[in-house]
Amino acid sequence: MNIGILGAGYVGLTTGICLATLKHKIIIYDKDLKKIAKIKNKNMPFYEQGLQNLLEETISNGCLRVTENINELVKNTDGCFICVGTPTNENNSIDLTQVMDATYSLAQSIENNKKSNYVIILRSTVIPTTTTQKILPYLREKLSRPFGLCVVPEFLREGQALEDFMSPDKIVIGSIDEKSKLFVEKIFEYFNNATLFLTNPETAELIKYTNNSFFSMLISFSNEIANIAETISGVDPFNVLKALISDKRITTNFNGTKIVPSLETYLIPGCGFGGSCFPKDVKAILNYAASKKIKTPILNAVIEINDERPQKIVSLAESILGSLQDKQISILGLTFKPNTDDMRSSPALEAIKLFQAKRAKIFAYDPMIRNDFVSDNKFLNFNLCKSIEECLTHSELAIIFTKWQEFKSIDSNLLKTHMKNPVLIDGRGFLDESKFEKNRYYKIGYVE
Ligand code: NAD
Repeated sequence: MNIGILGAGYVGLTTGICLATLKHKIIIYDKDLKKIAKIKNKNMPFYEQGLQNLLEETISNGCLRVTENINELVKNTDGCFICVGTPTNENNSIDLTQVMDATYSLAQSIENNKKSNYVIILRSTVIPTTTTQKILPYLREKLSRPFGLCVVPEFLREGQALEDFMSPDKIVIGSIDEKSKLFVEKIFEYFNNATLFLTNPETAELIKYTNNSFFSMLISFSNEIANIAETISGVDPFNVLKALISDKRITTNFNGTKIVPSLETYLIPGCGFGGSCFPKDVKAILNYAASKKIKTPILNAVIEINDERPQKIVSLAESILGSLQDKQISILGLTFKPNTDDMRSSPALEAIKLFQAKRAKIFAYDPMIRNDFVSDNKFLNFNLCKSIEECLTHSELAIIFTKWQEFKSIDSNLLKTHMKNPVLIDGRGFLDESKFEKNRYYKIGYVE
């Protein structure tokens, strides 16, 4: 099938590359022409495991190409995914500027090309009713020929995007018309193991927010349990939650084999969730609920608990070091999770701001962040190191923010060799405590 994609970000480019590997003919347009040039040269504009090779392969075999001209994209395709960003405004409402701009350009190109029955597939995460109340009326006004419109939310996780895209557990199609539903069903026919939800646009939109709200809630629940545990000497919240996970209503027993659900990775205390989805999506749905005067105590608490996590780390640092002024602190991990280079709403960056307000000196290391000029055109205003060792040198406190596998090598000897004061806060609680001396290793939520 001939399919267009608007937006070559984490979702758009992943979608394009993956569909091209299924031998669809894909054309991608992004208004960021530097990104387009990079992709044209077969270079990924961001890191996602497995995608660089597939990008090279699909461009070389002609299944994937990029264009600087949206008219050309529409001319050569029968439908197009809109995969542009949906950030939040200052007041936490959803910012639909990119979605409306993309819809506007697409509508113009459909008209210019006199295309009939062109299918527009909204892949970006949008608040319920956006499609029927904002996009549909706009398209009806601008398009003189019949068209298709549907919402097909994306559920991939950064760091596992390829696997998530190629083995989806569900495909949700919220369509307004039969032709868009059939078009999308055909695109995804390869994924016959996925549960198919054929529904209306509003339901599809709410399914996406329900997903992200639920997993954010599990993380904040775990952090609330950690907040309680840390008031009771000797109670390790990590063990408390492991016991919860072993409950047979969560870990099922299939013919004598225990099946631990992957949601266990959300039932772990830590320095909080970040990234480009959970924080912004929970805030956007809260803002929508408030506009409808709906009470949302659970989701309010999810954000409130999460917003406190970076401060928790700073308070723990103060309880160890006293005043933080002029103290050298090593930040290990800047991305919001491992196996990505995405630092959007990263807890580490939030904590760094708080440390800097206390005049601490920040040295940071992340295996994926190699340059102090990062992709969203921001300079990092702290010392970026090239190795764990460089980051630890002369430091008085090291803090792990991201569960990078590389940090598993950290032990007491490494800290003693490089640091002025060899103390570590394990903000993700994932190192082996037995590798550290007493009073040198702190795990969030646990007090001996
Ligand atoms: P992103 O910021 O990485 O990419 C968006 C891209 O759209 C950018 O390259 C930008 O230049 C481009 N763009 C903006 N306006 C454009 C226009 N008018 N025409 C063409 N291109 C335009 O965003 P993302 O992380 O890929 O997220 C995209 C959407 O998918 C969001 O709604 C997000 O909530 C949702 N989503 C993201 C993830 C994720 O893990 N990142 C997962 C599921 C859903």
